Amino acid sequence: MKHLPFILVFSLLLFLSVIQASSAQSYKWRLAMSWPEGTPMLHNAAARFAGNVEKMSGGRMQIIVDAPGRHKAPLGIFDMVRSGAYEMGHTASYYYKGKDPATTFFTTTPFGMNPTEMNAWYYYGGGLELLNKVYARHNIVAFPAGNTHIQMGGWFRKEINSLEDLKGLKMRIPGHAGEVVGKAGMKPVSIPPGELYTSLERGTIDAVEWVGPANDVKMGFQKIAPYYYTGWHEPGAELHVFINKKEFDALPEDLKAIITIAAKEVSFDMLSESFYRNVIAWKKMREKSDIKIRSFPKDVLDAFRKANKELLIQAAGKSLLAKEVIQSQQIFLNKAKHWSQITDADYLQLR
Ligand code: CA
Repeated sequence: MKHLPFILVFSLLLFLSVIQASSAQSYKWRLAMSWPEGTPMLHNAAARFAGNVEKMSGGRMQIIVDAPGRHKAPLGIFDMVRSGAYEMGHTASYYYKGKDPATTFFTTTPFGMNPTEMNAWYYYGGGLELLNKVYARHNIVAFPAGNTHIQMGGWFRKEINSLEDLKGLKMRIPGHAGEVVGKAGMKPVSIPPGELYTSLERGTIDAVEWVGPANDVKMGFQKIAPYYYTGWHEPGAELHVFINKKEFDALPEDLKAIITIAAKEVSFDMLSESFYRNVIAWKKMREKSDIKIRSFPKDVLDAFRKANKELLIQAAGKSLLAKEVIQSQQIFLNKAKHWSQITDADYLQLR
């Protein structure tokens, strides 16, 4: 008993030194992104996230961002982060619907939520919890990390005047929207972002959707496919940071908080940057007569809407977790759309 005070003091000192050691430990992590080096907004978002984590942690966590030119697997981020080959990734969840159908709708849902509605769902409507319920099964922690705003419907070589004109066209369009156009008679394919231009140029595909004016014009699609259609399929696509769950769970609490806040900041920042750059690019685009801006005819949109409804029911029937995600989004959207109508839509009409 007489040694008790000594043991207590010794234990306390040991505890403090462990705390100090863990808070002083530094980390050099690697992040694999799906985007080619220099892709507007998308690469910026990954680099900004990495830079902010390093600054906020006072240099204790450094994140090296690798483009597909180095890691060679633009659509393989899910596996590389799950296995720990990379500690982190920056990618789109819907590229991995083949790995887990429940991952599809975290990026976007055709005719679904816009960015404001999406953020409300993610941060206050249970979306973030569902995201991590799905990803925890794959040893991944995921955070929303960059929204593109409403995307354009894509580039076509020929004008689409009716549903008939779409039949048999091969189009790059990933996620649930790919299945929708497939059901409407097209042939959807998923191609890595870095190969889109050459695929369209060589005629491997007839049409392509990528993001919006700022990103698309940089790719040069307008030179080969001058018909540019307005969007329906990605009304606010959210990108994600993936983190190997075992590595994330082992981090000290302050670094976990820094990563969480950096992801939320970049989600907001990419939406702002996307909106700004698209405003500028759209102005230039409207002044150029060689780009023909169109909206899909009514029969095409009706067919997409019908196929989307049927395929959502099918997707919900195939996976319980996918069903939970789809239902959670639909329940929220059915309420949110009345508020969006009376605020956004009404205001845009009167401005
Ligand atoms: Ca897209």
